[in-house]
Amino acid sequence: MIRVNDLHKSFGSNEVLKGIDLEVKEQEVVCVIGPSGSGKSTLLRCLNLLEEVTGGDVYIEGDNLTDPKVNINEVRSRVGMVFQHFNLFPHMTVLENITLGPKKIKKISKSEAEKAALPLLEKVGLSDKAHVYPESLSGGQKQRVAIARSLAMNPKIMLFDEPTSALDPELVGDVLKVMKDLAKEGMTMVVVTHEMGFAREVGHRVIFMDEGIVMEEDVPDNIFSNPQNPRTQEFLSKVL
Ligand code: ADP
Ligand code: MG
Repeated sequence: MIRVNDLHKSFGSNEVLKGIDLEVKEQEVVCVIGPSGSGKSTLLRCLNLLEEVTGGDVYIEGDNLTDPKVNINEVRSRVGMVFQHFNLFPHMTVLENITLGPKKIKKISKSEAEKAALPLLEKVGLSDKAHVYPESLSGGQKQRVAIARSLAMNPKIMLFDEPTSALDPELVGDVLKVMKDLAKEGMTMVVVTHEMGFAREVGHRVIFMDEGIVMEEDVPDNIFSNPQNPRTQEFLSKVL
């Protein structure tokens, strides 16, 4: 589903990604952990063309994103992304937020888009919130709307960038539950997270990034119980 070869990304003279290789298979859940500033968000953003890469190649289902002929909107509808800050449109209801992409980008009729949105609202546990505005929702509910909005585009891959980091602790569980359900249904996912419990339980593989490099990559049990790289050991000793 995803293949990244020797990915480099610089902002001016600041090289943030220094040769990343990554492969994600269909239905795989890969969790990315690592200190702040290590390039985790930049890596995710390169996977759906929110950033232009400086060097190397990114393939999504075999299509090379660095090809100038690539259709950005088409790629973004295949690769959904959920951010730390939910970025909902405040002047639109929950239902309008969810149906905007399908209507505008996929040219689906309003009634079809709304019909498709209802099971998504149910999936994220917010069937009763279709007609409210985001301001009346908790952070956790907003994030679940953001997940439903992403799913409305029918993505093949979902990227999550610290989806629970901005939430009050008691709201984290509901969001993680939605993500866990998605993983169970076989969604291919890349999840940047500080939730080590989630990475351990739901992740098939964990990648530890530091200073723009993949320092270590393994199944969760090995990363968390027996990390090999001293940097991984140091990081985990601080967060676990
Ligand atoms: P992480 O998500 O692991 O905390 P980021 O990918 O956000 O790391 O950032 C890695 C580095 O890239 C940081 O030093 C950050 O300042 C820099 N960076 C990220 N986005 C930009 C940008 N748009 N312009 C300039 N520098 C950026
Ligand atoms: Mg980040």
